[in-house]
Amino acid sequence: MLFDTHVHLNVEQFDEDVEEVIERAKTAGVEWMNVIGFDRPTIKRAIELAENYEFIYATVGWHPVDAIDMTEEDLSWIEELASHPKVVALGEMGLDYHWDKSPADIQKEVFRKQIRLAQKVNLPIVIHDREAHEDVVAVLQEEEAEKTGGIMHCFGGDAEMAAKCLEMNFYISFGGPVTFKNAKLPKEVAADIPMDRILIETDCPFLAPHPYRGKRNEPSYVTLIADKIAEIKGMDPEAFYAQTTDNARRLFRLEGN
Ligand SMILES: [Zn+2]
Ligand SMILES: [Zn+2]
Repeated sequence: MLFDTHVHLNVEQFDEDVEEVIERAKTAGVEWMNVIGFDRPTIKRAIELAENYEFIYATVGWHPVDAIDMTEEDLSWIEELASHPKVVALGEMGLDYHWDKSPADIQKEVFRKQIRLAQKVNLPIVIHDREAHEDVVAVLQEEEAEKTGGIMHCFGGDAEMAAKCLEMNFYISFGGPVTFKNAKLPKEVAADIPMDRILIETDCPFLAPHPYRGKRNEPSYVTLIADKIAEIKGMDPEAFYAQTTDNARRLFRLEGN
């Protein structure tokens, strides 16, 4: 029993065979999935998938790479969707300094607006951070993000950053990179995250774990990520699956459903 907390089954890479991909995930033991929308078309599709499948939930928000495109209407639409019964979080939001489509000041403004919206509608937030560790932490602290907490998705920071995020009520989520042979940092960081604050995700179709690195990722591969972290922590894999699933259900407020 696993919960893949970050999937993009809502992108064109899954247009042809999304039903088979979902079927393979179920067979692999992936009980629940959270589909993340990050712009107009992917938000729409995330909601559709969440409405079609009882075990799929949705998260809606605006990606920092496209921050420059977000309008006030988009933000109001996200606010409307926040009350949809299958929407469990807002995001993914954050900062991405790898790509330069949206200038940093616009990214920060769009990030702040979404954090404030999450506080207004009382939902946790899903954070995307690429090459922007310090600024992401600074914005989260300034906006008092501990009020909602949320997920540091595909966490790539160090132990010191993880400690700051844990302090702000965030869960730390690990993806494919934790399985890469040359990835020392995520392995070291994962080893020390408290068991009640760790999550797993594929971020599919991106970042496929070893031995599928470079290929299209899919939710059934989340077992490879879970098994690797269980090994790092010296835990029984089944116990690790159960604990991370409990964590996700607590964060998304699905307990008792
Ligand atoms: Zn992301
Ligand atoms: Zn993502």
